[in-house]
Amino acid sequence: MRLRAALLASLLAPVWSAAGADERAGYTLTCATPHAVVHAADEAEATDTCAAVAAAHALLSAFGLWNDAEIRIEVAETLPVGQGYCVAMYDSSAHSVHLLSAHCLEGNPGRLGPFPDLPVEILFDSLIVHELAHAYVDASLEGRALLRVGHEYLAYALQLDAMDAGDRARVLAEASVEVPADTDVFSEALIGFAPLSFAAMAWLHFRAQGGNAGAVERVLTGETPFYSLRE
Ligand SMILES: [Zn+2]
Repeated sequence: MRLRAALLASLLAPVWSAAGADERAGYTLTCATPHAVVHAADEAEATDTCAAVAAAHALLSAFGLWNDAEIRIEVAETLPVGQGYCVAMYDSSAHSVHLLSAHCLEGNPGRLGPFPDLPVEILFDSLIVHELAHAYVDASLEGRALLRVGHEYLAYALQLDAMDAGDRARVLAEASVEVPADTDVFSEALIGFAPLSFAAMAWLHFRAQGGNAGAVERVLTGETPFYSLRE
């Protein structure tokens, strides 16, 4: 009987926790985009987020990137980690994306990272591209390793590529950087201290490599190398 009770408890446990998760405040929506589930404050915000996910999926797919596992996209007033300096994050172990809501971004002009001048709706959509790029790159690597610098290079390059030309031109003008000749300019230090420069140089370098699925593939295979530079 004890074994049977334990078995019953183990069968009931996940059902119970799933029911608990659904009872949280907010609205959960399974997007039309394969494997994407959004949790937001209400139906309107969840629907808008699914639309941004669909656009990001179309862009990432056009660059040859794919994803075959469920990704949960949490839109919230706070992030589980990185509060105060981070507005969006991808948790590779939980396969979840966490973003501050658009109205929360609106009220925090000092927390918009590399792109403080973008309208919040455009920033929100571009953050979805950036974070989903991390998830799709992880899947598309199929077990191959890629340094964090290479991951961020692709995420920022595709984030800028997804912007309208006018928005991207303003970002590039503000960054005021040259097209880098080599990938050795991309470092962990640059991500931390000058993310706008990192983002702009990533897009400029990516475009110089063709700015297409082939350029993405060469990063995934290591043909375009990145370096682990530490001081
Ligand atoms: Zn990133």
